Amino acid sequence: MELPFAESYKIKMVEPIYKSTREQRKEWIKQANYNLFNLRSEQVFIDLLTDSGTGAMSQNQWAAIMTGDESYAGSSSYYHLKDAIKNILGFDYFLPTHQGRAAENVLFSVLVKEDDVVPGNSHFDTTKGHIEYRKASAVDCTIDEAFDTESLHPFKGNLDLNKLEAVYSTHPAEQIPMVIVTLTCNTSGGQPVSMQNLRDVHTLSKKYGIKVVFDSARFAENAWFIQQREDEYRNSTIKEIVAEMFSYADAMTMSSKKDGIVNIGGFIAMKDEELLKQASVFNIMFEGFNTYGGMAGRDMNALAVGLDEVTTGYYLENRIQQVAYLGNKLIEWGIPVQKPIGGHAVFVDAKKFLGHVPKEEYIAQTLAIELYLEAGVRGVEVGTLLADRDPKTRENRYPKLEMLRLAIPRRTYTNNHMDVVAVALKNIFDRREEIDHGYRIKKEAPIMRHFSVELEHAEKGRKK
Ligand SMILES: *Cc1c(COP(=O)(O)O)cnc(C)c1O
Repeated sequence: MELPFAESYKIKMVEPIYKSTREQRKEWIKQANYNLFNLRSEQVFIDLLTDSGTGAMSQNQWAAIMTGDESYAGSSSYYHLKDAIKNILGFDYFLPTHQGRAAENVLFSVLVKEDDVVPGNSHFDTTKGHIEYRKASAVDCTIDEAFDTESLHPFKGNLDLNKLEAVYSTHPAEQIPMVIVTLTCNTSGGQPVSMQNLRDVHTLSKKYGIKVVFDSARFAENAWFIQQREDEYRNSTIKEIVAEMFSYADAMTMSSKKDGIVNIGGFIAMKDEELLKQASVFNIMFEGFNTYGGMAGRDMNALAVGLDEVTTGYYLENRIQQVAYLGNKLIEWGIPVQKPIGGHAVFVDAKKFLGHVPKEEYIAQTLAIELYLEAGVRGVEVGTLLADRDPKTRENRYPKLEMLRLAIPRRTYTNNHMDVVAVALKNIFDRREEIDHGYRIKKEAPIMRHFSVELEHAEKGRKK
């Protein structure tokens, strides 16, 4: 028999998690105003809200924590991180920030102004937030296949070059501060961008004199998919692929909480010293002095080790295998998910799952609440709540896809936990017709409402 897959690590330290009853969960989710962000972690059994900062560090990362240098200026930890960014990603300059959105805030303070247009592949919510906050607009140029969950396109994160060129040719270059390529594309289901597409976006952008910026939170997972799915790269190492990927970028923002495999941190890296100088002004104001920028020295040390670990094939194989394990179980049972399975999460197609719940009642949120009630599993809505209102008309924006995202923390849960998640979804799928209402908004914030929105059962407000 062929030997089954098993992880290339064993567990040195364990953290308890808590089971609960359906009755308890019913009460807790009501108290949380049906917003899963408002639950306490002890009220959750398996937490798939996000893979951001929720992973387990390795023994080498913990060892690096102990040798962190907390000097305000010129810390050796800063130089360890600087070397890792240069050697692995190829950027000469970088600024540490406290997390990814802080990197966006600093970089966009330099680059984005009112009425600007920023094309990209389904911008991440904080990225879009930082663009719209500056009264500029984000234009989605993702390929159409990304919005068909059944399409087996291997690179659903790709940008459609025609859509991109349409933006470039209808706006003056001064109005387009950059194109943002998100690797992997979170919003479209953790879907990768091909090397060919990165190369083409770079060539087209240079023709029009536009900067290329990578939103790089899951760059290593993206490199894994290039190695697996793009023939030319089958025999390349992950580090070789990563180096070529970033050769097509002028700058990058990073949420180190993802593929840095640390619990907090971020950075901006760039090739142009002038951009570094301009961004430094904002970094010092918002984040901290340039050699720590909101990070402790020990965390920069752990991040330097994390960047090395995340770009090894053995780490990525473990990571992607676990996500695929959950995804394939759901596919086997006929549960509609974004295919092929992405790098960090399984995205359940809530419109197909709960087709009878009206879109005005937040279909994916309804499914997220059901999953919590069923098994104490916390996923997250990637749908109408997240899409927010149009900044001009204030109307709800109904995205093409309503997804329930199940993000898998790195090196944290076992496949037994994945089995619980899969069976819980199967149980809901089998009784889906009985779910006869969604939710309506009681209270919401003017921007990025999904974090704090308060909901109630829709039947209460439904017109008879
Ligand atoms: C998480 C993430 C961000 C924001 O990073 P934070 O560290 O959460 O502030 C930006 N872009 C992408 C693609 C992300 O996944």
